[in-house]
Amino acid sequence: MLDTRELGRRPGSQREVSRSVPAPADLGIEVLAVPEGAQVDLDLRLEAVMEGVLVTGTATAGLEGECARCLDPITDQIEVTFQELFVYDDHGPPEEDDEVSMLEDDLLDLEPLLRDAVVLALPFQPLCGDDCPGLCTECGARLADDPDHTHEAAIDPRWAGLTALTTEAPPED
Ligand SMILES: [Zn+2]
Ligand SMILES: [Zn+2]
Repeated sequence: MLDTRELGRRPGSQREVSRSVPAPADLGIEVLAVPEGAQVDLDLRLEAVMEGVLVTGTATAGLEGECARCLDPITDQIEVTFQELFVYDDHGPPEEDDEVSMLEDDLLDLEPLLRDAVVLALPFQPLCGDDCPGLCTECGARLADDPDHTHEAAIDPRWAGLTALTTEAPPED
């Protein structure tokens, strides 16, 4: 919540606000998100206009998640920009219109705006790297560690010979 009273209501008056806030829950998507309570840095410009307060801002925060292919942990940074008009609520309760953000008692709630901006900016399938080869579909091994491994030849012919020798060796006694 951000108090806009210092801004005043004279159209054209502006204020720059920088602050750090703890991230709310669910700031992101299931596989990649800003951890709850992690620091979110906000740089905002508030501008009084006839109908309300126009908010233009940038948010930066750290992300944590996992690669959609190999499930390795990912950390990343996100920077999103957003702009929204918060309408004064002087004229009674808002009409049934979810598209309009309202100021409530000169306070504006940035959380829905921030969440929308972050979710839109996130990749649908986060990857640890663009060329992540993922996991082997047969055994689940990380292909980045073992790119050449294959399941086609069950036993290397050279080792097959050794196996035969071992199994056919006579008992020691
Ligand atoms: Zn990966
Ligand atoms: Zn495998």
